[in-house]
Amino acid sequence: MLILVTGGTGYIGSHTCVELLNSKHDVIIVDNLVNSKAETVDRIEAITGKRPLFYQADAADDNVMDLIFATHKPDGVIHFAGLKAVGESVEAPLAYYRNNLLSTIVLIDNCIRHGVRHFVFSSSATVYGDNQVPFLETMELRPRTNPYGETKAMCERILTDVARVNPGLSVTLLRYFNPVGAHESGLIGEAPQGIPNNLMPYITQVAKGILKELRIFGDDYPTPDGTGVRDYIHVVDLAEGHVAALEKAVPGVHIYNLGTGRGTSVLELVRAFEEANGLKIPCRIAERRPGDIAECYADVTKAREELGWEAKRGVFEMCRDAWRFEQSYEAGE
Ligand code: NAD
Ligand code: UDP
Repeated sequence: MLILVTGGTGYIGSHTCVELLNSKHDVIIVDNLVNSKAETVDRIEAITGKRPLFYQADAADDNVMDLIFATHKPDGVIHFAGLKAVGESVEAPLAYYRNNLLSTIVLIDNCIRHGVRHFVFSSSATVYGDNQVPFLETMELRPRTNPYGETKAMCERILTDVARVNPGLSVTLLRYFNPVGAHESGLIGEAPQGIPNNLMPYITQVAKGILKELRIFGDDYPTPDGTGVRDYIHVVDLAEGHVAALEKAVPGVHIYNLGTGRGTSVLELVRAFEEANGLKIPCRIAERRPGDIAECYADVTKAREELGWEAKRGVFEMCRDAWRFEQSYEAGE
């Protein structure tokens, strides 16, 4: 298949392009580079030996997208492009609603106009909010109260309504848990701008000496060691999940959790990182971070049974690969 990948030079998108190309699909990337670099296209080529077509363009620009769809006639779209910083979304809600909703509307509209039958959307476990763990695809959506989470729930609803009146269309909503790690080549990975918000990139920057110590946000949660529990998933497993979802897609709306089904606490992740890489991470306990929940992990039965996909890589590989990428990556490169 020829797959249009929006956000394909970003963290998850670049790993998915690699897995698509390795699975003999062809790839066109559309990315406006607001949070990534064009050089990633060279790195995808270096890993796979195949160069995806690349357009530096805004996925919310209907005229440009119409031209790209008309020129290339893709078989499917994977829509990663979006703004994703929770805190920033509280400060700049309109930018988040505009970018994340408009790009989704423009792309699904182009799919219908141009007869593209497969649409895969990057959703998030954030849509489960404070439901009981493990999170199941059938649970009611309770996005955490920030504009980022709202955009994910809203896009899911828009796509579901559109699929209902377009019976030939397949819409797959993939709810990611906590993607971490990097490609084993060390050529692509997560390179956040500024001080990272997320745990793994924060740990790797402490390991590198860029940041002094890790603040652990709360040790009094109702979890085995009191620190927050998340379902970390290796980004290459996540990328493979996209290929499986695309290859199994049939008309209708299909929702899958992409996680490992296992919860890991902050302290457990720090220890795993130290053991995997033979390093010490200075830590101190700090206040809880506002808006955090105690536990978040997936029920992964549906993806396993319907897609034949499950995560293969464990926390050790996640920590090893995240650190390998951090060491090879020069900020501003
Ligand atoms: P990322 O920022 O690395 O990648 C997103 C890419 O989209 C970037 O390259 C950015 O330049 C591009 N982009 C943003 N707006 C665009 C637009 N209007 N037009 C074209 N390109 C645009 O983020 P990521 O971690 O790879 O996340 C990919 C998707 O997965 C996002 O939709 C994100 O919300 C979702 N997601 C991420 C996580 C996570 O923890 N990383 C978890 C759940 C869901
Ligand atoms: N966390 C932490 N220190 C940090 C960043 C995160 O203790 O500097 C904790 C956070 O409270 C949560 C877990 O690590 O329990 C994962 O946080 P992240 O932001 O990576 O993911 P999310 O909370 O969005 O699932």
